[in-house]
This record gives sequence, structure tokens and C-alpha cells, in this order.
Amino acid sequence: MLADSTLSAAERTAIDTVPRGLFINGEWRETARTFPVVDPATGVPLCSVADADPADGLAALDAADAAQPAMAGTSPRERGDLLMRVHRALLAETERLGLIMTLEMGKPLEEARREIAYAAEFFRWFAEEAVRIDGGYMSAPTGGARFLVTKQPVGPSLLITPWNFPMAMGARKIAPALAAGCTCVVKPAEQTPLSMLALVELMATAGLPAGAVNVVTTTDPAALMTPLIRDERSRKLSFTGSTAVGKVLLEQCAQTVMRTSMELGGNAPLLVFDDADLDEAVEGALEAKMRNIGQACTAANRFLVQRGIAEEFAQRLAARMAALPMGRGTEPDVVVGPLIDADAVAKVQHLVDDARTRGATVLTGGTAPTGPGTFYSATVLVDVPDDAELYHTEIFGPVAAIGVFDTEDEAIRRANGTPYGLVSYVFTENLRRGLRVCEAMETGMVGLNQGVVSNPAAPFGGVKESGLGREGGSTGIDEFLEIKYIGVRL
Ligand code: NAD
Repeated sequence: MLADSTLSAAERTAIDTVPRGLFINGEWRETARTFPVVDPATGVPLCSVADADPADGLAALDAADAAQPAMAGTSPRERGDLLMRVHRALLAETERLGLIMTLEMGKPLEEARREIAYAAEFFRWFAEEAVRIDGGYMSAPTGGARFLVTKQPVGPSLLITPWNFPMAMGARKIAPALAAGCTCVVKPAEQTPLSMLALVELMATAGLPAGAVNVVTTTDPAALMTPLIRDERSRKLSFTGSTAVGKVLLEQCAQTVMRTSMELGGNAPLLVFDDADLDEAVEGALEAKMRNIGQACTAANRFLVQRGIAEEFAQRLAARMAALPMGRGTEPDVVVGPLIDADAVAKVQHLVDDARTRGATVLTGGTAPTGPGTFYSATVLVDVPDDAELYHTEIFGPVAAIGVFDTEDEAIRRANGTPYGLVSYVFTENLRRGLRVCEAMETGMVGLNQGVVSNPAAPFGGVKESGLGREGGSTGIDEFLEIKYIGVRL
């Protein structure tokens, strides 16, 4: 048994601090129906939260729409100051919020604390960006007229977030939306609503205007969101989640030509060349694979290692993976927490079995411990053939699948041989090769000799079927701004 199913007094207290209702127009609302939030480490329900229906969703949009003019009229400095207060409050509450996140999602407490810091940094970054929304003034090429260019908030925005980073994915949308002067309706994932409910309560205490951020939790996201997406008062959809759902939402958004930002799935290659620093490559591989127990859009999904060092790399990675402590995320030193649910474990097991059937060998792991909780052991597979299913789908679990390449051209071709294009990782000590390969990667982001790329100050996003638009960085706020040009005849 990996996890004790009873909550400690501190854990119970942390859960009991979280409001359970819908947050609409600055007030908490109860619903007739509720649904349980389950600790994936134990399978035990932590509490129940409101289950919104489509009428609740429309009430949230009514509130966002009503608050939009006032929000657009606030000064950039006022909006920045609000975001800075949220930044500070998040940091001050790291322990409580981190514990809530670990309990509802399973990630180790240390990772949850890092996610709170990451989320807080989005509020600080966009507090600073709120006062730097720029414009332009230019002469018409023919003379006699001037062009004024200004940026205005796009308007009420729908924000849909996944369960794997329950706080940061929301922060990455809410902070730029508010910085730009947009109100929003946020729909967190049904597996992990508590982090978002705790965040919005903290924002309300920090002085959030009523209606500026509305949060609706539901077990039926399609029924709730479809009418909101069709409603012409909604001016923007920012979605983070799977490519399959993203495609459905893009079709729906076409009906009103709604602006979209899409942060979708990935299938990251991690390339290790024989001139890499092997210690650094193993560390980077571990980070790129094991962050969030492998449940990250940026997780390295396909390890491709040059033949001369492939065996040593695999043996060293396997030794490190085998030594990672598994257990409930609240226990000290745990790295391998539970996967989000039983379906996730079944999917990972299926992918490992498929690879084995096609000729892969298991160096370590390859099994799911018996419950309670939905755990999967840290796994390293070698001799993985290109047709293995796990090379073509997000594994979303702690499984490193290693294949071998011979030449740089072959590595690039195989790395790019996927419809996804979120991130890639390249390990080499050769500067020319490093830059050549980074430029050849068909991904929105590349980690050169590093296994983590996320940073609020950098533009995060993918190409191909991994998404549209960028979050964070100096362009992140533009996702919530419209450009207006005013022609002036002199
Ligand atoms: P998901 O697509 O199943 O769900 C994401 C969100 O969409 C949830 O809030 C869900 O309730 C909602 N949703 C589902 N169907 C919907 C519908 N028909 N209408 C409206 N909303 C709907 O994804 P998930 O399992 O929660 O998250 C994992 C996925 O997210 C992975 O594919 C991962 O790669 C991706 N992800 C991408 C990024 C990124 O920045 N690119 C970051 C984190 C996660």
C-alpha cells in the first residue's frame, strides 16, 4: 500500500479552506448538484464542489459582459497593481495552496510549491506588461494623412484549463486577460477544480472587481461551454488541453469567427548526440520526463540517442529512474506520485505492452502497483521501434522510450515526423550543430542542453497540431488585445 487513505488534520484544514460554489459576479453560488473531487493517491473523495449547468454558465457570461466596460476603463496601473497584489498573496499562501494542489492532483508537494511560484510569476510578469501596451503613429506613404495604431481589450474571454497544472495554466490566461482589460469566465478541469477556486477567492480578497473573473465548475464541459462559445458576447476563447478537444472547439469558434488561443498536446522528441555532456543529458532527460510524473504537454515522449552512447545513456537513465521514490505526493522526497486516474494508468500500461510486443525491452519499471491510488512505476524502455504506439501518442506517464539514430539528418527527420510541434530537446556540446538542429526542429520551443523550457517571461506555445498563439513573454498580452488603426486626414 503506497498511501494512507486518511487525511491528516493539516490536510483536512487546507481542503476545508476552499470555497465549493461557483464564483459569479463577485459572489459564491450554490448549485443543486455537486460532484466529488478525489485524491488520486488514495481514491478517497476530498470534498464536493458545485456542478454548474448551462444556465449557470450563461449567468457567468452575463456577469463578465456587464463588467467588461468598467474593466476596459480601468487604468493600466490599477490593473497592474491588482495583479501585483495577487502575486504577493500567492507567494504568501504557497504552503496551503501547494498542499491543496497535491491532494487534488497528486504531484509531489515540492513540485506543487514550484507551480504556485510559477503561477505567481505570471501575475507579476503581466502586472509589468499591463503598463507597456504600445501603439503607433505614422505618416501615410502618400503623405496628407496619419495612421494611429492603438490596442484595445478583445472583450469577455472564455478560459478553459486542464488538470495537469491546475493553478499555472489558469494564471497564464487570467493574468494577461486582466492586464489587457478583459473580463473572463474560467472553466477549470473537473478533476482539479480546487486550485482555481482557491485562486479566485484569493483574487477577490486582493480587490478583484465583481464580474471580472467568474469561475464555473462542471462535470459536463461540452454542455456548459457550447452555448457560451456560440454567444456573440464572448469574444475570445483561450484553451489549454488535448488536441482532440481543441479541434472540436476550433470548429465551434468558427461559427462566430471568435479569436482563439490553443495550447494543445505534444509529442516532444529529446535528441542526445554523441558529443553531448552525458551527465547533463541524463539530468535533462530526467527533468523533461518526470516533471509532473510525466503528465506534461512538454514531457519528452520520444528519446532518440546516437548509437555510440545509446547503451550508456539508457543504463544511466534507468538507474536514476529506478531509484526515484514513489508514493503520495505529501510524503517527503517522493518524485513519482500517482497518475490522475485509473484510465491514465490503463493507457500507460497499454502503451508499454504494445511497445514490448513490437520488440522493446524494459530496463526498469513497466508495471502498475496494486492500489489504492493510481500509480505507475518509473519505466525505461529500449529498442523502441518507430511504429510503437507510444511514439505517436502522448504517453502522459513516467515512461522513457529510447530509440537509436545514426546521423544528424536522420535524427531531425525522425524528430519532426509527427503532427505535433510543441517542444523538442537537444543535447550536444557542439555549438554549430546545436543551433543547426534547433533551427530545424518543427516545434514552437526548443530546450538546448536543458530539460525544462517553461518561463513566464518567454513565449510558450506550439506549431502544427500543438496549437495557435503564445502565452507568456512579451507577446502573451497580445492574445487578449485587438489592434485598431485610426486613419486621420490632415
Ligand atoms: P482535455 O482536452 O480532456 O480537457 C481540457 C479542458 O477542456 C478541461 O477543462 C475539460 O473539462 C475541457 N473540455 C473537455 N471537453 C470539452 C468540450 N467539448 N467543450 C469545452 N470544454 C471541454 O485535456 P486534459 O486531459 O485535461 O489535459 C491534458 C491535455 O492538455 C494533454 O493533451 C496536454 O498535452 C494538454 N496540455 C497542453 C498544454 C500546453 O500548454 N500546450 C499545457 C498543459 C496541458
